[in-house]
Amino acid sequence: MPEPGSTAALDLAAGLLASASSVAVLTGAGISTDSGIPDFRGPNGVWTRDPAAEARSNFSTYVADPQVRRDAWRIRASSEMFSALPNEGHRSLATLGDRLHTLVTQNIDGLHLLAGTPADRLVEIHGTVHRWECVDCGARGPMSEALERVRAGEEDPPCEFCGGIIKSATILFGQSLVSADLARAERAAAEADVLLAVGTSLTVYPVAGMVDIAARAGRSVIIVNAEPTALDHRATVVLLGSAAGTLSEILPG
Ligand code: NAD
Ligand code: ZN
Repeated sequence: MPEPGSTAALDLAAGLLASASSVAVLTGAGISTDSGIPDFRGPNGVWTRDPAAEARSNFSTYVADPQVRRDAWRIRASSEMFSALPNEGHRSLATLGDRLHTLVTQNIDGLHLLAGTPADRLVEIHGTVHRWECVDCGARGPMSEALERVRAGEEDPPCEFCGGIIKSATILFGQSLVSADLARAERAAAEADVLLAVGTSLTVYPVAGMVDIAARAGRSVIIVNAEPTALDHRATVVLLGSAAGTLSEILPG
């Protein structure tokens, strides 16, 4: 493997992508930090600075504790996620066009869709903050409606259909992934010529397992991240650096 971040590594990655007829992509919070959304586990991550924040991402705590829900709604109502715009990294991935097999994102910010990645090739494996869902009756709706209720004074707005607890349509700790989404992610890793993992620490399974699936199937694996990841030893090439800058070099469009 060429030295991570070297010119030889950049050239190898650009060459692998240019000659691939299908590319699977896995993204994490690191692709959106340049859009002003902090990650959780990076050096300036929300959980790194405030370990208590991790508790708010737990399903049973959210359902059991009204104070946790009031805090969650107050934070959502002022979250940078709803005003953030895609950056060069999201836009570079959208240039893959028909060569994109599937883009699997662990992000819940909706920025890949905004950047133009087609919805039918996108798997938002941890859900989206742009919708709410009821934990009791399963009703869903646009998050903007729920946030309007919060801004109008409802601290923990109940489901308008059944009176139950509502949350953002994201997968919290203690909830399972949607099995069809996981199956699509694993199939993409096995089938595409190249797996490109960007801005993820590759510590959260089963999604990080895409790297092992691709490597075992003999596919090329390119990892782009600001710091070493847990699976760098499984990669064909590792590029240490910013997601936006690196992607614009290896995917010139
Ligand atoms: P993660 O474990 O995938 O780690 C993010 C990685 O990105 C870190 O290793 C960090 O060093 C790297 N990184 C940060 N900025 C970067 C940049 N500009 N260029 C390249 N790499 C960069 O993700 P996490 O932060 O632990 O978040 C865990 C989960 O929480 C996510 O999978 C997601 O579901 C959710 N989350 C979503 C968002 C979002 O939607 N934007 C943001 C934070 C957390
Ligand atoms: Zn309901």
